[in-house]
Amino acid sequence: MSAVVLDGKAVAAEVTEALRVRVASMSRKPGLAVVLVGDDPASAVYVRNKSRTAERIGLRHWQLTLPADTTEAALLAEVRRLADDADVDGILVQFPVPSHIDRLRVVDALPPDKDVDGLHVVNAGRLAQKREGFVPCTPAGCMELLARTGVSLRGAEAVVVGRSDLVGRPIARLLEHADCTVTVVHSRTRDVGAHVARADIVIAAVGVPGLVKGAWIKPGAVVLDVGINRLADGSLTGDVEFGAAAERAGWITPVPGGVGPMTIAMLMANTVRAGAAKG
Ligand code: NAD
Repeated sequence: MSAVVLDGKAVAAEVTEALRVRVASMSRKPGLAVVLVGDDPASAVYVRNKSRTAERIGLRHWQLTLPADTTEAALLAEVRRLADDADVDGILVQFPVPSHIDRLRVVDALPPDKDVDGLHVVNAGRLAQKREGFVPCTPAGCMELLARTGVSLRGAEAVVVGRSDLVGRPIARLLEHADCTVTVVHSRTRDVGAHVARADIVIAAVGVPGLVKGAWIKPGAVVLDVGINRLADGSLTGDVEFGAAAERAGWITPVPGGVGPMTIAMLMANTVRAGAAKG
């Protein structure tokens, strides 16, 4: 293996330690409310990890767990209650929500200044126009990891595999703002491999194990694997053929332990910013 493995766990620990020090100096501690609907085991793990990290850095935090048969109206009422609660600086609704709830209506109900997941259309618009706002946590975490490689992004060819509102689109915007030349490929792209093969930066955010082949990777490229896929044996794997890609890449993130921990660290950073804005 020739690639440097980017240790997202270690970088996230550095980021959260800096936040802990900052929060310790704040007289009013920022408050984060996390809402979980239903009993999806993966979501329950994510929410638990978020609560633990919030506790460690000294945030005030609340977890609201609602049953899977919660109506959309009841969830929206809870979100509005949190929106009106002056103690709450950041609200995170853990997605996916059960299929009878319209995810976009929930996102629309979040006040943009408490939308620490950066999903509200106002924050998406701010990002599109390169204005100050909350950036979605996973893309923000990817940018932090890219910064740690020391690789210059100016003029670099970046290929983003996936075009979701949560990951693909916002990371494409951030890379463009960092002066990369960005190509977004998706499920209708004719030859994904041909695009990936000329990329200096590859971001894989699809949800298909091993979709990005090691043989596609340009020697020396930076490969960030956002995918989290659970295999039949219970283990987790990413969207990139890790072993073969690591033979060619300059830097690569593992799954688990790469982008995932950075997502939580960036949620904490956004919440501290939301709290600091209120003084
Ligand atoms: P999504 O299902 O919303 O989007 C997937 C995207 O992949 C779509 O835009 C689709 O066009 C594209 N796609 C599907 N098949 C393709 C193919 N054969 N070739 C090229 N593109 C294809 O998913 P998402 O929310 O963006 O999440 C993507 C992955 O990232 C999932 O595995 C998810 O679990 C993971 N994820 C990880 C984190 C983290 O913290 N590490 C955070 C969010 C999502």
